[in-house]
Amino acid sequence: MKIETIAIHAGNHIDDSSKAVVQPIVMSTTFERAVDGSFPSGYTYSRSSNPNRTLLENVLAKLEGGADAASFSSGNAAGMAVFQSLTPGTHIIAPDDMYHGLRNQLKNLFKDILTFDFIDVNNSEVLQQHIKPETGLIWLETPSNPLLKITDIKKVVSIARQNNIKVACDNTFATPICQQPFSLGAELVMHSSTKYFGGHSDLMGGVLITRDKNEWWQKIRQVQEFGGAVPSPMDCYMLVRSIKTLPYRMCGHVHNAQLLAEYLESHPKVEQVMYPGLPSHPQHQIAKEQMTGFGGMLSFTLRDGQEEAKRVINGLKLFTRATSLGGVESLIEHRATVEGPDTKTPFNLLRVSVGLEHIDDLIADMTQALS
Ligand code: PLP
Repeated sequence: MKIETIAIHAGNHIDDSSKAVVQPIVMSTTFERAVDGSFPSGYTYSRSSNPNRTLLENVLAKLEGGADAASFSSGNAAGMAVFQSLTPGTHIIAPDDMYHGLRNQLKNLFKDILTFDFIDVNNSEVLQQHIKPETGLIWLETPSNPLLKITDIKKVVSIARQNNIKVACDNTFATPICQQPFSLGAELVMHSSTKYFGGHSDLMGGVLITRDKNEWWQKIRQVQEFGGAVPSPMDCYMLVRSIKTLPYRMCGHVHNAQLLAEYLESHPKVEQVMYPGLPSHPQHQIAKEQMTGFGGMLSFTLRDGQEEAKRVINGLKLFTRATSLGGVESLIEHRATVEGPDTKTPFNLLRVSVGLEHIDDLIADMTQALS
């Protein structure tokens, strides 16, 4: 089946008793045993599993082309489950511009348990120099947040395989509509489903998807079940509902982002636009090879520095000043302020989550704010 069909059908199930076309929300935390003590429905307790979560995990696994998926209460909880699943002492290699929330997790919560290096993972020489006997995981994030850097997944995977290292990819910015890391050799895919999967800025969630149901995956499933950072049945229902339109929403985000990026690049007040769909993007060629769409996120820097960035952001009327991304409405933020003192993000940079408003209205708003 094609991805549009999977998105609509793989998370749905006609209810056996009511024949409701859309799966009802099962709020019950617990499920009745039969007289012999068994659980005829297969469900025991909602921390372990729940009918809405089963359907969500089914559609997520199929969208990425994986063997199984585990959903969490946030993207950070999903990332944390990966780190918790590793043997203490494992060394992780991660991008130098890894999403700051997960970088902070490693630096603050895992500093006595795991070791890690944040490097330019796209530079094969640097990558090879940092591999140690205890390196167990290379973490990728492509496109990256907020610099929109592209990592050549195939190239990293080939180095990782030679050294028996697993590769996990944060696919939040691309979504499976624009990039399928399993087809490029990754073992694990992570998403903040708060973003494009949810798509309406009204729910938190995270997901891990595995290519194979191996021992590592069993450990991750244990972290999910024993830790219990799971999404509620309501959140699972909302996600399944939103995912049905994900392929079409992504087409709109990609279309609008490309046109806005081109407009901004031609504007005299703009210093640089970071969008993988622009031929000027340093890794445009890699993006063309490994992505089927360039995503809905872009960043740009202003020639006149931080003050000008603030002036522009405050002058916009349609773009809301807010963190997060992937919703139908356009958002903009001064990323360095959000990331805190150890940020490597330039102070004249604004990050945009390009929404699904009409592109003419978005460009008109940007024009008046830049003028
Ligand atoms: N990964 C990326 C690339 C993100 O942008 C985010 C959130 O912004 C996360 C992970 C964390 O997700 P959440 O906020 O759902 O915990």
